[in-house]
Amino acid sequence: MSTVEVKELHKSFDSGRVHAIDGVDLATGEGEYLVLLGPSGCGKTTLLRTIAGLEEPTSGDVLIGGQVVTGLPPRARRIAMVFQSYALYPHKTVQANIVFPLRAEGMPPRERDEKARTAAEMLGIGHLLGRKPRQLSGGERQRVALARALVRDPTVFLLDEPLSNLDAKLRTSARDELKRFQQEIGATTIYVTHDQSEAMGLGDRIAVLSEGRVRQIGAPVEIYDDPADTFVATFIGSPPMNLVPHGDVLVGFRPEHLLPVENVAGERITATLEVQRMEYLSGDRHVYGEVDLGDGPCRVIARLPATVETPIEVGERHDFAVPGGRLRFFDAGSGLRTAPVRLGAR
Ligand code: ATP
Repeated sequence: MSTVEVKELHKSFDSGRVHAIDGVDLATGEGEYLVLLGPSGCGKTTLLRTIAGLEEPTSGDVLIGGQVVTGLPPRARRIAMVFQSYALYPHKTVQANIVFPLRAEGMPPRERDEKARTAAEMLGIGHLLGRKPRQLSGGERQRVALARALVRDPTVFLLDEPLSNLDAKLRTSARDELKRFQQEIGATTIYVTHDQSEAMGLGDRIAVLSEGRVRQIGAPVEIYDDPADTFVATFIGSPPMNLVPHGDVLVGFRPEHLLPVENVAGERITATLEVQRMEYLSGDRHVYGEVDLGDGPCRVIARLPATVETPIEVGERHDFAVPGGRLRFFDAGSGLRTAPVRLGAR
């Protein structure tokens, strides 16, 4: 059993002035890849450090494998953590870095060397065991840090933005590698990031955090298609979900669902878009403009795939539409999802 559970967790700093974690409840499945996603300062790192035992919660409990571990030191939790700064020992070889935690535990040399070799082979760095960290690329250093975590046979992996030091291309391949690696060892993994594409690509589920609270937890497709509130709706998706005021609600729709009217069959709502600006991005046309659903003009973005060839010019007014099933409704006051309303004339 290697599930992680957090119950009613609170963590404040500065004598209660900063509520970094403000009542979080969550539970991973066995072997699940759970991503904690949220903007800077939302409490992701604090939550991960509290699970690891590096921070003491102000109140609430952490359970690993069904056992309460609150109060136990990190060592007693069978977890492994990889941070953004890999914190490798610069003067030690890759081999010595990897076996370091095993030395500290007093494992005999032959056994620990064997473990280091297996972990290094698994991560494709078996040929680098004699090098020093400065002789490695960022991606290789990251794999050394992972190998060092792996040799301790953890049942839970806690990863805090481990890819943030890598360039964009390396990040994509490292992300791929990390996912394969996690599937291979099957350890429950909690992964912190503020990068939504990383979260969407890696997570079995994503917990979206803001101001120390979980706004929504669900599979990437759920979070994207059925956001629980306007925070999640606009934090996920690039460009974010459009939100247009209409009486007591905000009408939400994704940019890719707002298309020139002739491209939308079936039940739909239509609106005239005043085209102000256009951008071409990876073959898509991003059309910036304004629509009015009865409460005054509101800025929106439409994302047209290359297959939509309708000519559109900046400065013109063009009829756009959204399929009825793609509309989402939010309470204008609380920002929470609400029941659909009919979009009649107001
Ligand atoms: P980032 O993505 O920028 O790393 P984060 O989501 O990981 O952000 P945390 O590092 O968990 O956020 O911080 C959450 C809040 O708690 C922030 O307001 C931060 O300033 C505060 N905080 C974190 N650690 C401490 C500390 N040791 N003392 C006081 N305040 C802290």
